[in-house]
Amino acid sequence: MTLRFHNTLTRQEQVFEPLHPGEVRLYTCGPTVYDFAHIGNFRTYLWEDLLRRHLKLRGYRVTQVMNLTDVDDKTIANARAAGLTLEDYTRRYIDAFFEDLDALGIERAEHYPRATAFIPEMVRLVQELLKRGHVYESRGSLYFKISTFPHYGRLSHLDAAAGAAQARIDSDEYDKDNPRDFAVWKAPRDGEPFWETEVGPGRPGWHLECSAMSMQLLGETFDIHTGGVDNIFPHHENEIAQSEAATDKPFVRFWMHAAHLIVDGEKMSKSKGNFFTLRDLAARGYDMRTIRFMLLSVHYRKPLNFTFEGLSQAQAALSRLDDLAGRLDQTAPGLTDDGGGLAATAKERCQGMLEDLDSDLNTAGALGHLFELVRETHTALDSGRFGRQDLEAVREVLDVFASVFGIRPGQRVDLDAEIEAAIRRRAQARERKDFAAADCIRDDLLARGIVLEDTPQGVRWKRKSA
Ligand code: AMP
Ligand code: ZN
Repeated sequence: MTLRFHNTLTRQEQVFEPLHPGEVRLYTCGPTVYDFAHIGNFRTYLWEDLLRRHLKLRGYRVTQVMNLTDVDDKTIANARAAGLTLEDYTRRYIDAFFEDLDALGIERAEHYPRATAFIPEMVRLVQELLKRGHVYESRGSLYFKISTFPHYGRLSHLDAAAGAAQARIDSDEYDKDNPRDFAVWKAPRDGEPFWETEVGPGRPGWHLECSAMSMQLLGETFDIHTGGVDNIFPHHENEIAQSEAATDKPFVRFWMHAAHLIVDGEKMSKSKGNFFTLRDLAARGYDMRTIRFMLLSVHYRKPLNFTFEGLSQAQAALSRLDDLAGRLDQTAPGLTDDGGGLAATAKERCQGMLEDLDSDLNTAGALGHLFELVRETHTALDSGRFGRQDLEAVREVLDVFASVFGIRPGQRVDLDAEIEAAIRRRAQARERKDFAAADCIRDDLLARGIVLEDTPQGVRWKRKSA
């Protein structure tokens, strides 16, 4: 087995071996918790989940960190508008984020550091950068001086001179020496939350959050750092500058980036308003497996065009897998021990699937092998030349698919169980007096056509009549 991943740093597929034998250390940029995540975000998070699952299937222990950005311009502005503290405001979106992860069957990372819980580590990093002369002060804020870091631009391959001229036109922050210089520490502004620290009052810049938390939890050099392509510049470029300038060590060995989910030729994004959340799609009757399958079916480095037709195709493909699993269950009791020859084919298809995944997570190729086997299995079943050995070999392939793609054929969704789980989460939120979160869950269910009634005997639910 040889894993090969495309590394944004070299623009090449490279053989992947972790730094510490047997363990992969992975940092995945997480959400800014100011609103619900949309399915564009989930394209990236799902691909990262697939990466994690595949590494585990290939025998590695994975230590994954995903940050929660709970302090930045957007969280601060929205909390203010809602009349809530930053903590109260972000908590409901952190809860919603975890609900969505669970609904989509995304495995939990080992660490979900919140930026506000790592302020001392961030301050230490700023102090180190100050000591080494990479940071200067201007009107109470601290900026990273990119001219002190000769490798700046290596990840995004930007043409520094042309880029700087362009940036100067767009930039309204005249208190920086160079428009590309970026804030590592921001001076307090009227009414905004801030921390009193050794580098002065203020709050961390977004890029600093990821540098400090990743190095704290994974070490100064770690294996893989991921995100969507929009993170390459400036976010990841700035993370490299801050981290390497402070440690003189390579920060990350493999940078991997997912292409975007596109709607009508444009990136799905909050600011364009062209987005769907999981709740929107659930309200239209799409289950989470279908969304998961649709988002994983295209190779992560290819843009994926979102359409409802695409969702229907995903539904149809999943039905083919469910039908096969059902047919296998029905046939199983009457099978004889000897095989009809399909077992060898199944092993080949499995090998093909795994090799495609080893090769930069080529999901489309892997699914090609799987559906070839679905067709071949039906043919074998139709012909009656199908034995227990064949059954076991085909089931093994479905198991491999289930463990990497996180979708088990034959396990159609139990919507009632999903609703009951949401009701339990609402009760827990009420117990801890988090009425905002409880109301949020009630509203979500309502959007899905589920009405809750609080009765003396407990909560009852019913489907809203159309
Ligand atoms: P944000 O909350 O905007 O910082 O995004 C969180 C993550 O989702 C980042 O890794 C982004 O690169 C990723 N992302 C945002 N929009 C899309 C999209 N339309 N398609 C794929 N990934 C996205
Ligand atoms: Zn980040």
